[in-house]
Amino acid sequence: MSQQWDALVIGAGPAGMSAAAVMAERGLQVTLVDEQDTPGGQIYRGVTRPQAAHRFMESKDYNAGIALTRRFLASGARYLPSTTVWFVEPGRVLARQGDATREIRATRIVIAVGAMERPVPFKGWTLPGVMGVGAAHILQKMSGITPAGPIVLAGSGPLLPMAAAHYLEQGVPLAAILDTTPAANLARAVPFSLPALADAGLLWRGLAYMLTIARKRVPVYYGVTGLVAEGADHVERVSFASKGRQYHLDVKTLLWHNGVIPRTHMAASADLKHAWNHAQQCWETCSDNAGHTSRNGIMVAGDCAGVHGAEASALQGELAGLAIAAELDALSARDARILARPLRKKLWTRLAARPFVDAVFRPCTRSYAALDDDVVVCRCENVTAGEIRAAVAEGITDVNEIKLRLRPGMGPCQGRMCGPALAFVAAAAAGLPVQKLGMLRIRPPLRPIPMATLCTLTKDN
Ligand SMILES: Cc1cc2nc3c(=O)[nH]c(=O)nc-3n(C[C@H](O)[C@H](O)[C@H](O)COP(=O)(O)OP(=O)(O)OC[C@H]3O[C@@H](n4cnc5c(N)ncnc54)[C@H](O)[C@@H]3O)c2cc1C
Repeated sequence: MSQQWDALVIGAGPAGMSAAAVMAERGLQVTLVDEQDTPGGQIYRGVTRPQAAHRFMESKDYNAGIALTRRFLASGARYLPSTTVWFVEPGRVLARQGDATREIRATRIVIAVGAMERPVPFKGWTLPGVMGVGAAHILQKMSGITPAGPIVLAGSGPLLPMAAAHYLEQGVPLAAILDTTPAANLARAVPFSLPALADAGLLWRGLAYMLTIARKRVPVYYGVTGLVAEGADHVERVSFASKGRQYHLDVKTLLWHNGVIPRTHMAASADLKHAWNHAQQCWETCSDNAGHTSRNGIMVAGDCAGVHGAEASALQGELAGLAIAAELDALSARDARILARPLRKKLWTRLAARPFVDAVFRPCTRSYAALDDDVVVCRCENVTAGEIRAAVAEGITDVNEIKLRLRPGMGPCQGRMCGPALAFVAAAAAGLPVQKLGMLRIRPPLRPIPMATLCTLTKDN
């Protein structure tokens, strides 16, 4: 029989570490699992490694990350790194640890698995040398590895100027930045600009990145459309249009970014209720302001339930932890309310600029309709935009029916890479709002695992 924990937290980012720390500090038996080998999540990735301070662009991020990580490690929560959860249900998860599967039982489960870059296909996106800005940034942060130059950054979203400024500060030259943000977005964002001033720090950071890019005289092309990566067996050239002119640039690396979206796979596999976020054009797990979801015993915290950034994620984690501590009698309901009050106030400030950021970087969904038929949308099963359109032409307009017909989402990534694009391509072809096509049904295992791992179940103790 496995040990019964009070709470199991999945994810050692700001949300998960905060939730685990707040519960363990109040005497609850808490386990936190994370697939990475050190705590920190995305933003504070590798914060406890030697020389980490030099790899963080912002000392503010490093200081916040190291303080939170130390608090978590001192809290008494058990920490299981290099442990990947592949099955979740109320009361129980199954996780891969080395070659074995570990069953962990807990009264409350907190899913805090963060966000992922929005995968957006374009012609040539499968060529070696084309990769996500976030992925390349992680390489740089973790190991100081920079992709081969000339490097071009393309797309839209807050990570794009941040990563560009980070590279430039580290002396990595950039050949160009191709900004695909539609000009109309800026006009749409104006009504949200005044309330955004409540989180002036965030806006100032964005401005500082832009100033770094301007100071280093990196050519920036605005209103970019028709991006194509070309090359025989590696990207060699990128073509695009900007302000009515066609351009071709020689590149060795094309870094592509289209914002981040919540990682909803785990929550979807547990059958939690989801809702469509119009501003960010993505699915989000439905939860109340403490992280309770549509299923008893499973909570969500941080960016996996809606992208709001690291500081908001930490606050949401803490609020979820306090709610659980009160429910499991480690804290009185009154004390939990008193402790939650200043956290909610801070959270309100952290969320103030979000509508503005969402409006500026609202994803341009027109590009899905413009994709050539031969562009691969599902990389695992090699399904093209044309095949998806042909299925729609036959009258299939539910993403799960398209999955059954053509297999997108059935490969090793389980639809993480193709799911959003599949829905947008099909919706454009059907002339329907994308949310009407539904959400891919997710089945365990959430990550590819060897058969041997399935057969070696170890009970937790
Ligand atoms: C690629 C990328 C790079 C980013 N870089 C920055 C940046 O440099 N600066 C910035 O301000 N913001 C950045 N962000 C946004 C930032 O990550 C978030 O705002 C913040 O980290 C969210 O915190 P979180 O705790 O919700 O999730 P995260 O910090 O993402 O933590 C989630 C954790 O869950 C773990 N996990 C996921 N799935 C499983 C599983 N199945 N089993 C076990 N563990 C699992 C992950 O390993 C991760 O450690 C980035 C986002 C992405 C997607």
